[in-house]
Amino acid sequence: MTSQEIKENAKKYVLQSWSRQGGLDPIPVEKAEGIYFYDYDGNRYTDMSSQLVNMNLGYGNPDIGEAIKKQVDQYCFIGPSFAAESRVTLAKMIIDLLPDTFGKVFFTNAGADANENAIKIARMYTGRKKIFSRYRSYHGSSFGAGNLTGEPRRYPLEPGIPGFIKFFDPYIYREPIEFKSEEEATNYYLAKLREQVIYEGPDQVAAIVIETITGSNGIIIPPKGYLPGVRKICDEFGIVMICDEVMAGWARTGKMFAFENFDVVPDLVTFAKGVTCGYVQLGGVAVSSKIAAYFDDHVLSCGLTYSGHPLACAAGVACVNYYTKANILDNVNKVGKVLGEKLEEFKEKHACVGDVRYIGLFSCVELVKDKKTKEALVSYGKDPEGIMSKIVGLLKARKFMTYSHENMIFVCPPLIITEAQLTEEMEKMDEVLGIVDREFL
Ligand code: PLP
Repeated sequence: MTSQEIKENAKKYVLQSWSRQGGLDPIPVEKAEGIYFYDYDGNRYTDMSSQLVNMNLGYGNPDIGEAIKKQVDQYCFIGPSFAAESRVTLAKMIIDLLPDTFGKVFFTNAGADANENAIKIARMYTGRKKIFSRYRSYHGSSFGAGNLTGEPRRYPLEPGIPGFIKFFDPYIYREPIEFKSEEEATNYYLAKLREQVIYEGPDQVAAIVIETITGSNGIIIPPKGYLPGVRKICDEFGIVMICDEVMAGWARTGKMFAFENFDVVPDLVTFAKGVTCGYVQLGGVAVSSKIAAYFDDHVLSCGLTYSGHPLACAAGVACVNYYTKANILDNVNKVGKVLGEKLEEFKEKHACVGDVRYIGLFSCVELVKDKKTKEALVSYGKDPEGIMSKIVGLLKARKFMTYSHENMIFVCPPLIITEAQLTEEMEKMDEVLGIVDREFL
């Protein structure tokens, strides 16, 4: 097919996620390598969002490719009830990376079904039904994960599943209260959460599910003490603490798992994306030994044809090995520091930048009409004039590829990016923010 035919057929036959289908203009991609991908005319695009924050190790990694080929030659598939070497190897590697309290892994196809199964495990283990999650969250688009999700992508599923309760996030930048310290903010949010749990009947609450660091809804980094405080509430009432690490996990924040930044140990950790970095799809739930042991003599009522697909697990083993082999955490911390400095510079320099939030190579720029009032450049859930698409388009014209959500632009490049590559791209962003200052406020 020619490039044009690929594009036309994409528009004609493929339904595109989260989009009005008219007027789409997908780029036909011919090849990809490192942090770049190329169209059929030889244009090079820099992937500054790691696709959907999943291509942590970039494109064309030979170790991962070889591991997949080797597994293809051995066998592509054997059912979940058999012991497959790649599956057990990956499960052990994940458990070894996690704190000692973790014991077993239930593998899924991706992030949404990781969360679906985590909720089921918590409900079966506690015998309770209610599930707490936050408003500014995305946990997946399937029915259960979509009901966990707090942001507008849950609306088509409503009125939704009874017993899914939402609570507020520690989104300090937009909190009407001015906190004097992180500690004060932490105490405020935890007191509210505890009160809400009590109103809902603590003995009915199976789980509190949180993105350890909120991803798509604005890289919200919890204040010091917040996550240990959630842990304490869970312990007080016998509630299972679930950290969704689908986006924040796998070295993205400068630690292998994001919760390691906060002196907390959850009961269940859901993961996907960076475990296989898009080479083959895979997700899973890492389960504490205590909860895993419950299922020694109770039926684990969870199942997927492709649970622990051998090909995906082979890719996973190669990815996890590569994180260590290439010292990815060191690179994230080194280049992440430069990213943070650049973003702080933008906040000083540009009238349109209200806030910047970053940790490791996980960051966003929050755009406002007015720094003082913090009025968002586009209001929540609404952008009738397509302002954010225009801004993303200006970046795209400079081959800086990323996406926006509400009034935020995400900068989450592959974790293999070098300092020089990052600097080159941030110059483009600087230029585009200058245009926003002049033409969009
Ligand atoms: N959880 C979080 C935090 C996510 O960011 C996502 C996807 O972006 C999901 C869950 C859903 O993962 P998937 O799209 O693989 O189903």
